[in-house]
Amino acid sequence: MIPFADLHCHSCCSDGSFTPQEILELAHARGFKGLSITDHDTVAAYKNLPEKAQALGLELISGVEFSCVLREESVHILGYHFDLDSPSILNLCQKHAMRREERNLKILEKLAQNNMPLTYDDVKAQGGTVIGRPHIALAMIKKGYASSLQEAFRKHLGEGRPSFATGLMVTVPETIEAIHQAKGKAIIAHPHLIQSSKILNQLLEMPFDGLEGYYANFLLKDNKRWLQLAEKKGWLVTGGSDFHGTLKPNIEYGASYVDERRFRLL
Ligand code: AMP
Ligand code: FE
Ligand code: FE
Ligand code: ZN
Repeated sequence: MIPFADLHCHSCCSDGSFTPQEILELAHARGFKGLSITDHDTVAAYKNLPEKAQALGLELISGVEFSCVLREESVHILGYHFDLDSPSILNLCQKHAMRREERNLKILEKLAQNNMPLTYDDVKAQGGTVIGRPHIALAMIKKGYASSLQEAFRKHLGEGRPSFATGLMVTVPETIEAIHQAKGKAIIAHPHLIQSSKILNQLLEMPFDGLEGYYANFLLKDNKRWLQLAEKKGWLVTGGSDFHGTLKPNIEYGASYVDERRFRLL
């Protein structure tokens, strides 16, 4: 497979450590011809970005990774090639901004109850237009409450841990609908990370356009199952590194990608 585009990565607009411009430069240096940036619940990276991509000879398609909940489990949905100014996408991003604000404050309350006080400004100082648990974890490390991101998640912030909190839930059907209204493609992100077969089976019956079949440092033999499943359903296959920069240091930009044919189908 000839590498054409890494379709999954995070910029500093969510929980990545590189700016959108720096990601364009990484894609260019890596020899890619196309890319998408898929921040969690925001499209802020795309402000003035198409012109900058064009200047480097790169084909940029819009992208986003939405957080959803299904049967109380977290599910990520990728959206691609939607209209960036579509109200359905912008409204959903706005809803997530409110959800995150409420949830983050709940997490800070719990941390304070567990003798780890932090202000929202401590957290905001860690960057991100969209603030997530990784930013809270970084602020905790700074205060000496944890020694690594992994420890902060394992002991305090991970699902079911003492300082975990959920806020408003956004459903899978409303997310697919918002992406479709914006003329985009709705894709199941990293399906191999979904632990429950009940949840996976339920997702496979929903009106998605495809699934993510190439992922991060995934071995080719591991994605056979997903490629076959996509073929059976007549679905698209996407792929990318899920690069986060220094926040996930074991994943390099371009670790996974799609070829030109798959890129054009999106
Ligand atoms: P949030 O969207 O704010 O709930 O935060 C979830 C994000 O935190 C994920 O998308 C990952 O980027 C990151 N994350 C989740 N679990 C871990 C972990 N164990 N260690 C480091 N980062 C994690
Ligand atoms: Fe992330
Ligand atoms: Fe994800
Ligand atoms: Zn991701």
